[in-house]
Amino acid sequence: MSREDKVGMKTVLITGGAGFLGSHLCDRFLKESYKVICMDNLITGSLANISHLEKNPDFKFIKHNVSEHIDLTGDVDLVLHFASPASPIDYLMHPIPTLKVGSLGTHNTLGVAKVKNAKYLLASTSEVYGDPKVNPQPESYYGHVNCVGPRGVYDEAKRFAEAITMAYHKAHGLDTRIVRIFNCYGPRMRKNDGRVIPNFITQALKNEPITVYGKGDQTRSLCFVTDLIEGIFRLSQSDIHGPVNIGNPHELKIIGLAKLIIALTKSKSKIIYNPLPIDDPKLRQPDISRARKLLNWSPKVDLEKGLKETIDWFKGG
Ligand code: UDP
Repeated sequence: MSREDKVGMKTVLITGGAGFLGSHLCDRFLKESYKVICMDNLITGSLANISHLEKNPDFKFIKHNVSEHIDLTGDVDLVLHFASPASPIDYLMHPIPTLKVGSLGTHNTLGVAKVKNAKYLLASTSEVYGDPKVNPQPESYYGHVNCVGPRGVYDEAKRFAEAITMAYHKAHGLDTRIVRIFNCYGPRMRKNDGRVIPNFITQALKNEPITVYGKGDQTRSLCFVTDLIEGIFRLSQSDIHGPVNIGNPHELKIIGLAKLIIALTKSKSKIIYNPLPIDDPKLRQPDISRARKLLNWSPKVDLEKGLKETIDWFKGG
């Protein structure tokens, strides 16, 4: 059957659908019997992430930069706005596209939702909390962001994105949701995206030095992709309009992560210490009480299991 023949199926537009999270969302929504329109300008996304969906009649890829006007024919029931460079080196390399996709891209995708009378979900980030003075971070924490620092292009774009999403909800009655995504990892992360897990795993597998930034005593809390996608899916089906943190509260030091990856890969790599990037958050742990209570969601995959799966994927890629 062609896409058009299947009556009653819902259609979801996933921007950034060829990225790490976007492509997993395409898979999930196809499994949930949605038709999926995946829109991506491939600035950081990759066709390899969606090549397995190419022949699926319910899947359609449109190469487009959502910071430009979006023209879509046909019904759309749900918009998931996931387009954005998301790793620090990516948004440092593309500062203006990052600001544009968080601002103009969010405006354009809200416009699509409004004209199609669709529900809307914004991918926001723990970066809205900046270098937090409160740990763990609940959604009620306003954050501590340096707007003119190097990370400001991402942090402020996402803060603006949240603000305009709430404004469309309040002023136009749009049915919106906001997920604040904390550090996550898993298959389909780009080897060279500069984030800590791809860096450490690729370095460990080649027995090259593991590049810990600073002393490695900064913390992160890492969520495996399947858990994250489950939380996002549940939120997309909910009526919660305020922001919801989705992440794994298991917090560890970056030096501990380096040692764990060396052990799991049985690597001969040594640890070297490079300068800590400007404004690198010292602590990060999601308070997920809201997600637990409102979505009955909590992460299930522990770090070792998730890392083993990710290491196997990196070995194969
Ligand atoms: N990091 C590191 N070595 C690397 C890459 C990252 O020590 O090769 C550190 C980085 O300084 C940060 C943490 O790992 O404290 C997580 O960095 P990532 O880029 O994954 O994401 P962030 O949470 O900073 O957005």
